[in-house]
Amino acid sequence: MSFIINLAYFAAAVLFIVGLKQMASPVTARRGIVWAGWGMVLATVVTFLHPEVVGFVNYLLILLGIGIGGSLAWYTGKRVAMTDMPQMIALYNGMGGGAAAGIGIVALMQADTLAWTTQFIAVLGIIIGSVAFSGSLIAFAKLQGLIKKSIRFDRQQKINLGVLGGTLLLGLIIAFSGSQVNGTLLLLFVLLALAFGVLMTIPIGGADMPVIISLYNALTGLAVGFKGLVLDNAALMIAGVVVGSAGTLLTQLMAKAMNRPLSNVLFSQFGETATEEQGEITGTLKPIEASDAGIMMAYANKVIIVPGYGMAVAQAQHKIWELTQRLQERGVDVKFAIHPVAGRMPGHMNVLLAEAGVPYDLIYDLDEINTEFKTADVAVVIGANDVVNPVARTNPESPIYGMPILNVDEAKNVIVIKRGKGAGFSGVENHLFYADNTRMLYGDGQKVAGELVAAVKGLG
Ligand code: NDP
Repeated sequence: MSFIINLAYFAAAVLFIVGLKQMASPVTARRGIVWAGWGMVLATVVTFLHPEVVGFVNYLLILLGIGIGGSLAWYTGKRVAMTDMPQMIALYNGMGGGAAAGIGIVALMQADTLAWTTQFIAVLGIIIGSVAFSGSLIAFAKLQGLIKKSIRFDRQQKINLGVLGGTLLLGLIIAFSGSQVNGTLLLLFVLLALAFGVLMTIPIGGADMPVIISLYNALTGLAVGFKGLVLDNAALMIAGVVVGSAGTLLTQLMAKAMNRPLSNVLFSQFGETATEEQGEITGTLKPIEASDAGIMMAYANKVIIVPGYGMAVAQAQHKIWELTQRLQERGVDVKFAIHPVAGRMPGHMNVLLAEAGVPYDLIYDLDEINTEFKTADVAVVIGANDVVNPVARTNPESPIYGMPILNVDEAKNVIVIKRGKGAGFSGVENHLFYADNTRMLYGDGQKVAGELVAAVKGLG
């Protein structure tokens, strides 16, 4: 029987990996999700039919768990607005870490049956899973706007180090305490690990959130992998390793996109929310009407569109695609420039543009397009702010200094579509909006994009 179970787990692992591979391209991503989903169904059904492989045979509890978890996920997954997707992912990610930590706790409560190596791995899994759990909950609160500021206090780094040290020390004592794990120590250990996740995340803010979110994704994978070792379950091990390595790569990519080493994000003051140190702003905000902006675009040779979080809020992607088509009909060369951290989750803008039907060959990454802004007649910024803020290049005092940005300011004309004076996620004032070549087109992204379509159509 164990051969058949392992064969089924192997098939599930193949489905995960093939699914992940397909997710690498927007063309096949949807199919990839379905393949990986079937892998998960297979692994769950096999474990359900043979719960003894994870040493747990209470069918009532299993069914209750599947019922509550499954219906909650189904309900929230169906109802969630596209703009709330990033926080939902942070929440689900945290749940994965929490579940992995929970399995470790249960395993340690039955430590008399565990080898010391398994006990040690369970401790590691609890630390990583708990940090990912509480850290992801804070990330959720930040993305949801429940926590608006980076929280900093005196001797923060020392306190963080103290809590980490305490967690590791208790973890070591528990790992080597043989069959008799002290319940109070275990509780204290878990609480300290949870506290460390909170303390590690509250000071992170500004533009550094993408890095920490992908780090927690990697940690959750790692914790699940450790649980696979504790339970001797191949499906968990493989799924954990796949998520852990994908999350690690994503963390590296995000850190590269922000141009800062991970250690810098975690241990420096970089992620700080904007202070008064905004640098001197010269120039004024110069509004423009949609009709004039439409004419400017219609008679341009080259237009580069830069979407940001505000496009997601406004759900303006369909209108923007319609605008693109109208411009293309007039012979205008239109391209989309995507910053790696635009929006609120990795790939956010690509997903929205794909949903609207924008062909992939019109969409360019920062590295591919940044030199082209010089040759653009018009750069249209819709709902983007931090990712086009030139202070990231010019002001070493700025919290976003050093982050590569889209060089929108180099275009001959810049049109910025936003509702008013709202700041970006980092809270830093944007000097682009005051530049001589920038015009502000105020209004909700979808409404304004509709007016631009009408303006271009009106030219015949
Ligand atoms: P920003 O958050 O910097 O700016 C969004 C802008 O959109 C605001 O200035 C707002 O101005 C405008 N806006 C909001 N609603 C609308 C609307 N309905 N119509 C038109 N405009 C609107 O977005 P960016 O994409 O430039 O930058 C992303 C930021 O988020 C970065 O700092 C990044 O680090 C951070 N982040 C990214 C994550 C990721 O994985 N991608 C995860 C977590 C954080 P106004 O209110 O005036 O309209």
